[in-house]
Amino acid sequence: MSFMDVVKQFESFDFNSYFKSVSAADVLHSLNRDLLSPYDLLNLLSEPALQFLEQMAQKSQKITRQYFGRTIGMYAPLYISDYCSNHCTYCGFNCASDAKRLKLTIDQIKAEAQVISDMGIRHILVLTGEAPEKTPMSYLIEAVEVLKTCFSSIGIEMFPMDEEDYRQLKDAGVDSLTVYQETYDQQIYKQVHLKGKKMDYQYRLLTPERGARAGFRSVNIGPLFGLGEPGSEAFMAGLHAKYLEQTFPDVEISLSLPRMTKAAGGIAPRHTLSDRRFVQFILAWRLFMPRLGITVSTRESARFRDKLLHLGVTRYSAGSKTDVGGYALKDAEATAQFEVTDTRTVDEVTQMIRENGFQPVFKDWEIF
Ligand code: SF4
Repeated sequence: MSFMDVVKQFESFDFNSYFKSVSAADVLHSLNRDLLSPYDLLNLLSEPALQFLEQMAQKSQKITRQYFGRTIGMYAPLYISDYCSNHCTYCGFNCASDAKRLKLTIDQIKAEAQVISDMGIRHILVLTGEAPEKTPMSYLIEAVEVLKTCFSSIGIEMFPMDEEDYRQLKDAGVDSLTVYQETYDQQIYKQVHLKGKKMDYQYRLLTPERGARAGFRSVNIGPLFGLGEPGSEAFMAGLHAKYLEQTFPDVEISLSLPRMTKAAGGIAPRHTLSDRRFVQFILAWRLFMPRLGITVSTRESARFRDKLLHLGVTRYSAGSKTDVGGYALKDAEATAQFEVTDTRTVDEVTQMIRENGFQPVFKDWEIF
């Protein structure tokens, strides 16, 4: 049994007809239940649920405070290489792009780490494109060894790997894994992944399971909103998170909601996700999974992120740079993977969090 079996169960499910059939009474029924079924999640993700956002928000706030208090985990991303052999039509790092490529040396990683650490960040998320010949395991392990001296928690968002590779990274000091399925719709997946290993839908889909089996304490997943129909993507992502939580009860599971933004060489979104529906998805996921971590990055605007604080989110990035060498190598001509919209400093974001009565948490884990 794997999550692919769950995907197969919903392959011919008519999401459009189901969403159209949901009534206000169905939404209220689901909203008033303590333990939600997958059909309750569908009801809360439907358009009619938008009229109950206030009630959903109140319940979500109560559950979030019960499980997380008023805390927001803080992290920053660190891009160490943008070489990539995949052709994802929505990403400026794709192999067909003539963007200048960069891979940081170990000394440059040290310099980047120092700048991020000086900002107060203790959780780092390390990113690469998919080019293992440029970023082999020996390089990744050396990078982790350096990062361990500055950070108490190291997450990776790299190319999907085999379980054994994840075990090696875990032994080196990596404790969490982020991998986005991009879209759960197999047809669209095929249309937007034109070249490279990423064309293999199933291998990517089962990556979080391999990471959890390898022993990462935390796994973060999500769709890239803009590719598939938003409601069905939010539903499949919710089911995926639930499957992981039930299969690996000792692993912390989180969802993210990256929305496609304009990136150099990237295509425009096929579907737009409005702010209201973005909020609705956070609330529906929270009611479906009380212990779920929910991450919102600096792709979202400062104003919007300030409002989301009260609605069920648990983790924010801050002070982010999305180009290789963006923190310390000021003269690098690197391409950003996506535009940062919330450009505030870490201090400014943490001040906002405190002013709203929440506590920013920089360290809740220690590498041994
Ligand atoms: S999304 Fe990732 S795998 Fe796809 S082109 Fe960009 S860096 Fe490469």
